[in-house]
Amino acid sequence: SGRLAGKVAVVTGAGQTPGSTIGNGKACAMLFARAGASVICVDRELERADATVAAIREEGGDALALAANVAKADEAENIARLALETHGRIDALVNNVGIGAGDAPAKHLTEEAFDRIMAVNFKSAWLVTKACLPIMETQGAGAIVNISSLASIAGHHMMAYETSKAAMNRMTEAVALSSARKGVRCNAILPGLIDTPMAIEGISERRGISPEALREERSAMVPMGHMGTGWDTAHAALFLVSEEANFVSGVLLRVDGGQGAR
Ligand code: NAD
Repeated sequence: SGRLAGKVAVVTGAGQTPGSTIGNGKACAMLFARAGASVICVDRELERADATVAAIREEGGDALALAANVAKADEAENIARLALETHGRIDALVNNVGIGAGDAPAKHLTEEAFDRIMAVNFKSAWLVTKACLPIMETQGAGAIVNISSLASIAGHHMMAYETSKAAMNRMTEAVALSSARKGVRCNAILPGLIDTPMAIEGISERRGISPEALREERSAMVPMGHMGTGWDTAHAALFLVSEEANFVSGVLLRVDGGQGAR
């Protein structure tokens, strides 16, 4: 009876980082399951995907874990294959995988970090989209949500990350246009500062400050005075994949406490 009753959703990067706050992907997976979807939780780390699946099943939801490195074409194709084999369809896809480690301004960025960040943040979303689109187009229906970043339009000195997400924005518009007549919608969410492992634990360690101090510093950067949570991203994603957004495609939606309005 939920907004996604009977629907099949794929969420990449849906894992739970051990001992950490909830990420954008896990929140999407859990919220979609609460709305009635069967969710395929994809993560490079099987234990992380398993942790999300366990949390969903604990609430009485339906989910499956799949270990895949989405930056590899054959592993991206496995996602679509598993969805077809287990459920016979894919209604919603959230391309949520993203990394920032090793990034730097253009002058200091290494070729290795450039290639890795572009492959994991941008190319992977295309690979998974390419694998799932034929299924959605055959159905004549489907919704894709790309988890981009506010950094795609307002830089924070992370050249590869910002560029990969800007490319993702343009891909979102391109897919929205090329699949519109087939009934497939494609939108992007641009989260601002979200309290997830990537934005806190990863960075506080690198900068040698406590997670609490970093949280305070980041909260002060947001007009609303606090960081968002994975749930804020997930609620926007739920809207974009639901029937309520049937006429919404090619949108780049900021979810950032007002930060991008500056
Ligand atoms: P996270 O690090 O908590 O979760 C990401 C998950 O992706 C992890 O479980 C990781 O194992 C998995 N993963 C990494 N590389 C993978 C690969 N190649 N294949 C499959 N899985 C892989 O991250 P998060 O902070 O929840 O971020 C999720 C998305 O949100 C990212 O795209 C990120 O860029 C975006 N985002 C985050 C923020 C923020 O402030 N946290 C802001 C804007 C955008």
